[in-house]
Amino acid sequence: MNRFDYLRPGSVAEAVAAAAEPGSAYLAAGTNLLDLMKGGVSRPTRLVDVTRLSGLDRIEHRPGGGFRVGALVRNSDLAYDAGFAEAHPSVAEALLSGASAQLRNAATVAGNLMQRTRCPYFYDPASACNKRDPGAGCEARGGETRLHAVLGWSEHCIATHPSDFCVPLVALDAAVEIEGKAGARTVPLEAFHRLPGQAPERETVLEPSDLVVALNLPAEAAAFARHSRYLKVRDRTSYAFAVVSASAALRLDGGQIAEARLALGGVALKPWRAREAEAVLSGAEPTEARFREAADAALAAARPSGDNAFKIELARRLIVRTLSLAAAGTPARMPAFPASAFASGDALHA
Ligand SMILES: Cc1cc2nc3c(=O)[nH]c(=O)nc-3n(C[C@H](O)[C@H](O)[C@H](O)COP(=O)(O)OP(=O)(O)OC[C@H]3O[C@@H](n4cnc5c(N)ncnc54)[C@H](O)[C@@H]3O)c2cc1C
Ligand code: SF4
Repeated sequence: MNRFDYLRPGSVAEAVAAAAEPGSAYLAAGTNLLDLMKGGVSRPTRLVDVTRLSGLDRIEHRPGGGFRVGALVRNSDLAYDAGFAEAHPSVAEALLSGASAQLRNAATVAGNLMQRTRCPYFYDPASACNKRDPGAGCEARGGETRLHAVLGWSEHCIATHPSDFCVPLVALDAAVEIEGKAGARTVPLEAFHRLPGQAPERETVLEPSDLVVALNLPAEAAAFARHSRYLKVRDRTSYAFAVVSASAALRLDGGQIAEARLALGGVALKPWRAREAEAVLSGAEPTEARFREAADAALAAARPSGDNAFKIELARRLIVRTLSLAAAGTPARMPAFPASAFASGDALHA
């Protein structure tokens, strides 16, 4: 591990000023960043510890039904906030399907959004990686690609974004509140993460020293609460990143889908909003045939980035299953355990 300065600012303004020094990184719970530093993957020269900034650890229920979630709210605290979980059950479900209980107790909302890819070549400083070392090449190309991207990838990087939490959030039109040198701004989560293109080292729209201060969920998002699910397929039933995941949210009216939201995880370098599929579902009856059509639309542009063609069919099937479960209704009990894509009915939360 390299030598670094450690600062603990007392306000957001001080934090932004402190992080303006080139080579700085914000430190939240450190569950991702410290691993990367110990492995020599990230080598910040200054750590700006934001964990003591006051006011960023609140879950605010906004008049009209929206939520403002502070950047430092712990993943577990958000999942178990009864008002939040009732309004956004798929978000709670996604949070509880991530990592382990100990990690969720520590990990923050902003840290989850900002976590780095789990591409094994990125974590191995001996491998060529354009994301770690721009222009170095991509050792994943032609390597072990089972968990790599099938949508939105480029020749320069085929990695995926590992967050569960971001998948329902992007479906529900969440937005990220940012403080930076130029002041405050809000960016839709859908536009927050970048696809790799020619510059995979640029992962988000954040500028140097920009600090994520909160996440906003609009009031309209709660209209999906009764038909909202997150399902994750992974190699083990717990403590594993998604091979593929899906979040579906439906607003049903008179037996028809008045509005549909669909997003996928584990398929691209950003949480993937499947707008083409949403258009197929809008105004339709919630039948399996229509769900299959939507799944085909969602994956129409997919292409393997190596030996991962199986993910395309897996994602199609997961979409159909997630939509079917969402249409059947959010289970009455709040999720105490992560949903398994292989369970059914109420046993999903047993
Ligand atoms: C073994 C293991 C298994 C895991 N499994 C899963 C899983 O299944 N699903 C899943 O979704 N996640 C999983 N995770 C990832 C975990 O959710 C993240 O490590 C965690 O959310 C990061 O939060 P943190 O507060 O520790 O962030 P940190 O590690 O402190 O920071 C992570 C990144 O965010 C930046 N950052 C932090 N706060 C801010 C801010 N306010 N503004 C701007 N930048 C900021 C940091 O500079 C750093 O780049 C797993 C992690 C581990 C170690
Ligand atoms: S896929 Fe991306 S993160 Fe992985 S080695 Fe290639 S450039 Fe690096």
